[in-house]
Amino acid sequence: MVTVSWWVSPSQAADDQSSRTMIIRLLFLSICCRLAHGQGFNIAGLFEEDSNELNVKAFELAIERANQNKDEDHALITLTVNIPPENPFVAMNSTCSLTKQGIIGVFGPSSLSNIHAVQAVCDAKEIPHVLSKWMSEPTKLGSSLNFYPHPPLLTKAYIDFIQEWKWTTFTILYEDDESLLRLSGLILYAKETGVVITVEQLDREGTGNYRDTLKKIRRTRQKFIIIDCRIDNLIDILIQCQQIGLMTHEYNYFITNLDAHTRDLSPFQWSQSNITGIRMINPDSAYVHEISKEIFADQVDEDPSQTASRLETETALIFDAVYMFTDIISKMADIETFGVPLDCYQSDSWVHGYSIVNFLKTSTYKGLTGPIEFNNEGFRSTFNLQIYELREGGITTVALWNSSEGLNITKKFDEPLELGKDSMRNKTFTVIISLTDPYGMNKEASEQLVGNDRYEGFSIDLIEELAKLEGFNYTFVVQADGKNGNKVNGQWTGMIGEVMAGRADMAITDLTITSDRAEAVDFTSPFMNLGVSILFQKPTKAPPNFFSFAEPFALDTWIALAVAFVIVSLSFFLLGRICPDEWTNPYPCVEEPEFLINQFSLANSVWFATGAMLQQGSEIAPIAIPTRLVSGVWWFFVLIMVSSYTANLASFLVTENHVELFTDVKSLLENADKYGIRYGAKANGATMDFFEKSTGNELYQEIAKYMREHPEDMPNDNKVGVTMAEEMRYAFFMESTTIEYTIQRHCGLTIVGDRLDEKGYGIALKKDSPYRTRLSLAILKLQTSGEIEKIRKKWWEERKGGGQCTGAADDPSATPLDLQNVEGIFYVTIFGTVLGMVLVLFEFIFNIFRVAKKAKVSIFQALKNEIKFFLKFNSNVKPVLDARSEEDEDEPEDKSEAQSESLRSRSKSERSKGTTTNGTTRPYGFVISSPSLDRLTESP
Ligand code: GLU
Repeated sequence: MVTVSWWVSPSQAADDQSSRTMIIRLLFLSICCRLAHGQGFNIAGLFEEDSNELNVKAFELAIERANQNKDEDHALITLTVNIPPENPFVAMNSTCSLTKQGIIGVFGPSSLSNIHAVQAVCDAKEIPHVLSKWMSEPTKLGSSLNFYPHPPLLTKAYIDFIQEWKWTTFTILYEDDESLLRLSGLILYAKETGVVITVEQLDREGTGNYRDTLKKIRRTRQKFIIIDCRIDNLIDILIQCQQIGLMTHEYNYFITNLDAHTRDLSPFQWSQSNITGIRMINPDSAYVHEISKEIFADQVDEDPSQTASRLETETALIFDAVYMFTDIISKMADIETFGVPLDCYQSDSWVHGYSIVNFLKTSTYKGLTGPIEFNNEGFRSTFNLQIYELREGGITTVALWNSSEGLNITKKFDEPLELGKDSMRNKTFTVIISLTDPYGMNKEASEQLVGNDRYEGFSIDLIEELAKLEGFNYTFVVQADGKNGNKVNGQWTGMIGEVMAGRADMAITDLTITSDRAEAVDFTSPFMNLGVSILFQKPTKAPPNFFSFAEPFALDTWIALAVAFVIVSLSFFLLGRICPDEWTNPYPCVEEPEFLINQFSLANSVWFATGAMLQQGSEIAPIAIPTRLVSGVWWFFVLIMVSSYTANLASFLVTENHVELFTDVKSLLENADKYGIRYGAKANGATMDFFEKSTGNELYQEIAKYMREHPEDMPNDNKVGVTMAEEMRYAFFMESTTIEYTIQRHCGLTIVGDRLDEKGYGIALKKDSPYRTRLSLAILKLQTSGEIEKIRKKWWEERKGGGQCTGAADDPSATPLDLQNVEGIFYVTIFGTVLGMVLVLFEFIFNIFRVAKKAKVSIFQALKNEIKFFLKFNSNVKPVLDARSEEDEDEPEDKSEAQSESLRSRSKSERSKGTTTNGTTRPYGFVISSPSLDRLTESP
């Protein structure tokens, strides 16, 4: 075989000169070929830049195979030309160049406008034009044949599926105009039959983001979806369906693209959605295996079906088309006259063209894409479709469709996948349950119930769901003694013993997976996770306390408050003394007072702080900025502290705090004797076993010892344990799942402490059971889909008195405010006080200068004088330092004392005279007019 191929770029073709060069090149190559190989027949293949390269390979392979039994004179020569997509000008020029070679047929191209251009040339020149693409407007031109199924027949197939699935409403998701046209027949069918449909374009903008459309679909609650899209976008669309939540068991998809199976759909096989697709190629056919092996020469899988399932429809159609065409050619008697060069600018045409097309139309052939037949108009009228479903494990063919007989169901659409001897389908199993709430319970009904109907509960529902998934039947039997099973004298008892003895195929209840049990039987993966915890009475209310008023603050807060009070009182005293402005003239009428007095004696400072703290105030009013600043900060501190105290006191008054007898296993053991608490677990259960086996933990060993010594505290049934916990001081070690169930119904009980371990419940099967993997997978599936949680909610929270105690949530308890809660305000107070001290220092220094200047003494002298009085803590009277006093400088102390004394005696005499406090009747205009005068003048 000789293959000649080249690439024509649009610019090249648009250029006339280049076009001519191309034609010369074609002629040259053709002549060369003929000279080298004698008389042969040119078959042209027009391929596009973006088309699958395997299509060219299939084209060449078909000719190669056809040439195998031919002599050189009758050999077929492939002329493959690559043209740009959607460029009719280039397509037409290329076809004209090819016709000049004397071609006997043209295959391709694939884009619509190119097809039309090529078709026009082929029709004018009467050269067979073979297509393998879906066409919206099937050509009725005499020279064309299309191997792609006739669109109305495909629509008929779609309708057959929809009727079989009984879809009374569905959504069409289409990608572009072409895909909408492809489904137009379906839309028409819906209109005629009254089926309600929604039609949505997947991605108008072409951004690859389909989520907006998918969200819209989710809002419509439409569960039946038909997707028509280009194969390259399919996986993205399905991924986005999954992201939007459109891939649950409720959703059904029908993918119309004939190549969906060639993509990796495995990520969606667990989605539980019903994903159905169609294909023309049967990947199990030996012929398909043979050809796909050659086409995928360098990437062949071990399993030929795997390779075959990668073969795309267009590639297979090209192969079939070329092969059928060459077969017909070889059967034509006048083959020698084939291959006449034709010029597009001449009116001549090829005489044999239509004969070949007619011969093809009336022939039948069986290719990679099944049986091939055409109707008079050149449309493919016979073809087969395989309908497959995506399930766990992969793709399974469930039905066949053919254009003459319609749909033929080979497997039930929702029939679970068979996976050999582990299949549970149609088998009946004996399932042993125990009557342990809520795992298995007798159903209450007015009429007599029989068989499986007699029982209800979590285990019953779970088995029902598993049976639905795996397609098995079951009969429940009840474990009479209610024992889950443990090893006694080397023999397994209870349900484990029944499974081991083969009297039951499965055991399901609150059956904990333990290492001992796992040696005796097989467990599925756990369907519930839990841990051992303690069931006990809710804490009782604490009796009222004599010192309840102190409860709003924690001890450290009270101490900090006291310290703050002392510090602030001392600050007032010290600041008052240092601050010059706080030394005031006792007789405002006397312009040049001989001495000054200070209101911040130690007693007054404490009294001022006390008045502020109790929010009562005092008549002492700070005068200077630093003392006012510290007062303000102290008031703010008091405001916050009192508000916090009041608020927390209110919550202490409305809540009753509880006394907890113990909070965990350690405190249970410590307080058990003190409070007379008994404890235990279900006899011979996994919880008892847990303590027995915990040899490395002293606490658990102590509990195990107690349990051995007190069989009366080891009930045989959870119910008895719950009653004991309710009626006495009894701590029942129980599994957290069952505790959760109990405290939903027994409002006086609660769970105490954390889980002591982590484990799970599983379904027990006989050792080496073939069903273990299937059941584990099914459990995982039910967990992923939320089905197990739904069943749990039903039996824990909704049925049989569930949710009774939901409203009776524990009272919120009030907690004393500790230092952490109020430390901010302490910092503010400290900051304010320090700032006050800094300010007072400035004032003090400034005053020294002022006094020194006024008294005409040295600064040092003034400072000495001030410090002397400042350190004289027992006196609140200070002589004014001036020129006069300077003379008496040596005896200031005596003078100040004398002045103090005189002030005191004057004050007393004023009071004995009954002068009023406003001072109006006082001689000398005495301004220290309040009762605080006494306090001021009475030095401590
Ligand atoms: N689930 C336990 C078992 O499988 C029974 C209850 C318990 O021991 O707390 O034995």
